[in-house]
Amino acid sequence: GKKVLVGGNWKCNGTRDKVASLIAMLNDAGEFPANAEVVIAPTALHVGKVLDEVRKDVNVSVQNLWSEPKAGAWTGELTVDLVKDFGINWCILGHSERRAYCNETPEVVGNKVKIALEAGMSVIACIGEQLSDREANKTMEVCKAQLDPILKAIPEGAIGRVVVAYEPVWAIGTGVTATPDQAQDTHKELRAYLSEVVGPKDAEAVRIIYGGSVKGANCEDLIKKADIDGFLVGGASLKDEFKQIIASSA
Ligand code: 13P
Repeated sequence: GKKVLVGGNWKCNGTRDKVASLIAMLNDAGEFPANAEVVIAPTALHVGKVLDEVRKDVNVSVQNLWSEPKAGAWTGELTVDLVKDFGINWCILGHSERRAYCNETPEVVGNKVKIALEAGMSVIACIGEQLSDREANKTMEVCKAQLDPILKAIPEGAIGRVVVAYEPVWAIGTGVTATPDQAQDTHKELRAYLSEVVGPKDAEAVRIIYGGSVKGANCEDLIKKADIDGFLVGGASLKDEFKQIIASSA
């Protein structure tokens, strides 16, 4: 079957001391479950140190990419060729914070997904509705509008390198986790939509992971659900309980 993807998105957090202790926490965590695939995304400042020092069965990811593929005069940005040169093969794209605060439209995100996949990277593509969308029964409408440019951007044969992260914005950093049933219902609808667009075989193979206030205390109930294939963890990935979340994939 599919490996359970457990992603830790450190966002813009981590002093040097904190990063050292997170590396030690992971390195001392003992064997991970055989079907866990762990990916952590430190800030761009810390990514080199993490790559050098973290155990080799932890994949390191960037949190964003620039919207042009090649290095050059893009002050403040990271291009896919430089990221690949570092040996980094994972990226998070389209996180709701980038959509909200950096004006990343669905088209911008789709373009970045295309650049990353064409360069051979694996992509955690984030989608998710606002509370007002959910209250207006527009969850799927909003998710589809975000998903369409992502799906269009996938080159032939690259869908195996795409992970969809469903992160309802109202659940991010709020402590309000989607209930396992709420998350499962949306994941199931997302998979049905994927099936329409890319066909049932690929739709079944794509991992749809959940993000939004995932903690040690709720991960076990979430991961039991048929269409929840892992997590993208923010706050709790900066704590010891991240080990417990990894262990829930067993
Ligand atoms: P929290 O786990 O802090 O809610 O963040 C979720 C998230 O945005 C991961 O990308």
